[in-house]
Order: sequence, then structure tokens, then C-alpha cells
Amino acid sequence: MARATCALCGRQADTEDTPLTWATSVEGGRKLLYCDSCARENVRGIEGKLDAVYW
Ligand SMILES: [Zn+2]
Repeated sequence: MARATCALCGRQADTEDTPLTWATSVEGGRKLLYCDSCARENVRGIEGKLDAVYW
């Protein structure tokens, strides 16, 4: 299993498992991952299910 990679900043998780602090979002049928810092900054957009292109 590949390491979790943040869809916004490209940061990779330290482990193969997605850290609990990371957020997941399904957009257009794809599962996207966001690291803890990006998730905090974009929590409103993620919760609103907005497509990343609008951020
Ligand atoms: Zn990130």
C-alpha cells in the first residue's frame, strides 16, 4: 500500500496508514487525502464538498 499523500501540498505520511489527523474527501469518485495542516485550512471547503478547483 502506498503512503498517504496530501492532495494539496504533496506531503507524505510517515506511515503507510492514513494518520488519524488527516482528512479524507471523495470528489468526483476519487478519494483525496489532506494532511492535518491542509485539513485545518480547508475544513470549510471539505465539509462543504466543494471541488478542489474552487479553493
Ligand atoms: Zn497538505
